[in-house]
Amino acid sequence: MSIGATWAGTHTFGAAELIEARSVEEVQDAVAGTDGPVRALGTRHSFTDLADSAGRLVTVTGIPAEPRIDEAARAVTVGAGTRYGELAVWLESQGWALHNMGSLPHISVGGAVATGTHGSGVRNGCLSDAVAGLTYVNVAGEVIETRRGDEGFEGLVVGLGAYGIAVRVTLDIQPTYLVRQDVYRGLSWDAALGDLPAIMGAGYSVSLFTMWDEPTIQQAWRKTRIGLGEDPQERWLGARVETAAEAGLVDVPPANLTVKGGVPGPWLERLPHFRLDSTPSNGDEIQTEYFVALADGPDALSAVRELGAEIAPHLLVSELRTVAADALWLSGAYGRDTLAIHFTWRNSPEAVAALTPRIEAALAPFGARPHWGKVHSMTADAVASVTPRLADARAQFEALDPAGRFANDHLRRLGVRL
Ligand SMILES: Cc1cc2nc3c(=O)[nH]c(=O)nc-3n(C[C@H](O)[C@H](O)[C@H](O)COP(=O)(O)OP(=O)(O)OC[C@H]3O[C@@H](n4cnc5c(N)ncnc54)[C@H](O)[C@@H]3O)c2cc1C
Repeated sequence: MSIGATWAGTHTFGAAELIEARSVEEVQDAVAGTDGPVRALGTRHSFTDLADSAGRLVTVTGIPAEPRIDEAARAVTVGAGTRYGELAVWLESQGWALHNMGSLPHISVGGAVATGTHGSGVRNGCLSDAVAGLTYVNVAGEVIETRRGDEGFEGLVVGLGAYGIAVRVTLDIQPTYLVRQDVYRGLSWDAALGDLPAIMGAGYSVSLFTMWDEPTIQQAWRKTRIGLGEDPQERWLGARVETAAEAGLVDVPPANLTVKGGVPGPWLERLPHFRLDSTPSNGDEIQTEYFVALADGPDALSAVRELGAEIAPHLLVSELRTVAADALWLSGAYGRDTLAIHFTWRNSPEAVAALTPRIEAALAPFGARPHWGKVHSMTADAVASVTPRLADARAQFEALDPAGRFANDHLRRLGVRL
């Protein structure tokens, strides 16, 4: 029986079987019941063969979420297959919140943290940075618990499925809060490049959307946390706020997007770009993303703009976000405050394959790292040169899984396993 493809249809899975576990015991049986390759599959929102296996895939999305809050520790523990959006609705009903969300709430917690998924905000770490504990099934089929502070923990959180199958994840939480979203049009490139940290810091979470070849930045989305700093004004550095309560983005219908127009609302209905009850994004697309130091942002953006006329015909839109530095070995923001340069491409694989090496060459002087879940052309040598703790992460994966049963072609191609 065919296992199907990634959410965007960009990779058809070649694994021989998919086990849809309903309990932790079924995950243990799935791992212990074979000597061959086995690997976790989340909600399939990665764009490559990253999640694939030469043997068996196991998904934990069918295990009940059973969220539990530890108020004293300010943490929630939840089934790893739970979608962020579903966890968020439950947390809000209990008066709690997460520090941030990715652009879509449909992704599983286990799969998102395994690839270093992020939102935006100069002070907001990636979603993985909120992981305080992991419960996983190891290569022997045993249930192992590990927590922040344990030796090697920082090498497991952004773990690419290379050490086991996470079944429960513990995340930091905080009391619920309100956010408003304001969309500005006409922000000049000079203003953005002149003081990028200030522009990206002008709100709890700021995203800039561009087609690269335009005279001004198409849209700037400022997500302001109510009670933190000043509310946005009608004009901002020459840009004008959009008054319609629901602004569209490229060809995404406004009804699929979270509410804008400065209307305050709970964090979970403003921090993601896409609504949980709608089709996220376009669906017929390929995504690529690179991480550079925020301090290098203006030069890195100028280098990509040089390619703007060639990029634009193949692009749906690019998004620029920030991620605060963290200590997670395989995080795109490891050790540096980061600018994330994202491309949502039209679904033309040949054009993307031709353009990514050129973008990578333009960004190479800035030590750009690729997003683990998205399409890129970087070689193992290139990835190693920009991932300071790759050898440490690989050594830990080798120690936990000497036979490489959790490895796959993708990890071997990138030197995450040998
Ligand atoms: C429309 C769209 C919007 C996106 N927006 C963002 C964004 O805003 N920010 C961002 O950073 N990324 C974004 N992404 C990328 C996405 O967040 C990542 O690809 C993420 O890994 C998806 O999670 P998933 O559950 O679908 O994982 P999958 O694609 O199913 O798997 C990804 C990896 O996680 C591993 N994995 C999955 N579940 C587990 C588990 N239980 N235990 C151990 N390992 C596991 C898999 O083995 C694989 O290596 C977006 C993707 C799409 C399609």
